[in-house]
Amino acid sequence: MNPWLKRLYDLTPAPVQSALVSAFSARLERSRYGGRFQEYRALLQESQWWDAAKMGDWQDARLREIVTYANEHVPYYRELFARHGVEPAKFRGREDLPKIPVLTRDTVKSRVEDLKTRRKEDLAPGHGHTSGTTGSPLNVWYSPDSITMNYAVMDRVYEWAHAKLGHDGDKVAVVRGNVIVPLSQKRPPFWRHNRNQNQLIMSSFHMTPDNLVAYFEALRDFQPRVVDGYPSSLYVLAKVLLNRGEKMPLHAAVTSSETLYDFQREAIEEAFQCRVFDYYAAAERVIWSTECDKHEGHHLCEEYGVTEIVDDEFRAVPAGAEGFMVGTSLHNRGMPMIRYLTTDRSALKTRTCSCGRVSPMMEDVTTKAEDLLRLKDGRLIPPSVLTHPFKPLNCIEASQLVQTDLDRLLIRLIPRPEYTEKDGQNLVRDLKERLGQDMRIDIELVQSMPRTARGKFKWVISEVKLGL
Ligand SMILES: [Zn+2]
Repeated sequence: MNPWLKRLYDLTPAPVQSALVSAFSARLERSRYGGRFQEYRALLQESQWWDAAKMGDWQDARLREIVTYANEHVPYYRELFARHGVEPAKFRGREDLPKIPVLTRDTVKSRVEDLKTRRKEDLAPGHGHTSGTTGSPLNVWYSPDSITMNYAVMDRVYEWAHAKLGHDGDKVAVVRGNVIVPLSQKRPPFWRHNRNQNQLIMSSFHMTPDNLVAYFEALRDFQPRVVDGYPSSLYVLAKVLLNRGEKMPLHAAVTSSETLYDFQREAIEEAFQCRVFDYYAAAERVIWSTECDKHEGHHLCEEYGVTEIVDDEFRAVPAGAEGFMVGTSLHNRGMPMIRYLTTDRSALKTRTCSCGRVSPMMEDVTTKAEDLLRLKDGRLIPPSVLTHPFKPLNCIEASQLVQTDLDRLLIRLIPRPEYTEKDGQNLVRDLKERLGQDMRIDIELVQSMPRTARGKFKWVISEVKLGL
C-alpha cells in the first residue's frame, strides 16, 4: 500500500477498515482464480501421485523451456550461457543444471535489470520485495503464470490439511505480518474481518501480555476452523490458552515463514487440539515444501521448482547430508531464477513418506544461515538445539537469543509473575553446558519482543558475521 493510502486507511474506523480489506480481497481473488488457476490446480491434483520417473521427465521438459526462454529473452542468461558454454538446444534437464553457475543474492541485486525478461507480457504489474534477514530488500519480478501457480500450490497446502481456502472455504484466523491495524492503536480490536475470504486477520504487532486476552476472546467469537500464521504468533496464542487452563479445538493449524520449533508445535497442537501443517516457501518463489497429513517431514513441491542441496562449493550433497538449498523456478518467466542460492539450509530425507506420494522429503529448514550461532572454536550451533534449556521453563512467556559477539549472548525474556532469579541462573547454566563456559550470557527482562519490519519474529539473532 502506498504511504498516502496507508495514512488514510489508518484514519478510518475499524469497521470501515474491515470493509476495505474485504473489497481489496475481492479484487485480488478475481486475479487469483483467473488465468490458468484451474489448469494448475488440476495438474497438482494429479501430479502429486506421479512416480519419480514421470515427475523427472516433466521437470526436465520445463527446465528446457525455461533455459531456452532465458537465453532468448533475458540478457543476463544469454551472457552467462555463452560464457559457460551452455547450449539451450542441447540442454537435457536436471543432469545439466550443474553446468550453470549458481545465482547469488548479490548478483540479483547488481544485475536486476538484466535479469528481467524483455518480453513485457511475461511481467506481472508491480514486483515483489523479499526482505530476507540481511536488512537489504531484494526486488523480484514475477510472471502472471508464476503468481497463479503460487495460489494453486497454496490451495493444495490447505487440501492436505483437509481444509479449504477461499470465499467458499473454511473460516480462517490469520496471524501473520499483515499491517492491518495502526501501530498507534492501543485498544482492541487488533484484527479486521476479510469477509470475502472468511478470514479474521489478526495483527502480529499488538500482542502484548495485556492485549492477549482480547485476542483470545476475538478468536472465540469468530470460531475459526483453521488458524494460519507465523509459528511464533500462534505459539503466543497457544500459550495464553494453556496458561489459562483452556483449549480451543480447531481442525488444523497452518504455519510458515519462520522456523517451527518442536516446543512451538507441541504447544499449538495441545492448545488447539489439532495437528500443525507447516509449509516452507522461499520468498523468491523458487522452493516450496509442505507437510502432508502423515507429518513425516516436508514434501518437496517438484511441480513448483527444482531443488538442490549443495555444499559450500555448490556441489550436490547426498540425501541425509545438510547443505544450502538452491532452487530453480519452473514458472517464473518474469525474472527466471535458475539455481538461485538461498541462505536456507536443509537436508533431503533418505526415505519417502508413508502417504504414498513419492516426492522427496525434506528435513525442516531449521537453520537459516544468519540464525546460526558461531562460537570461538568455530562451531556453528543451530538454534533448535538451544531450545531444550527453555523447555522446562514455564515461568517465561517468551524468549529471544541475540549473539552480539563470538563470546557474548544476550537472552531476552518476558517473565511471568512466578519467574525468579534462580530460573535465570539455571537457564544460563544449561546454555553454558551447550555453548561453553567461556560464553558470557546476560539476561534482559523485557515487556515485549522486537519483530522485524514485516512482523516476523526471530528466536535467534546472530550479529556475528558467519563468513558464508
Ligand atoms: Zn506424505
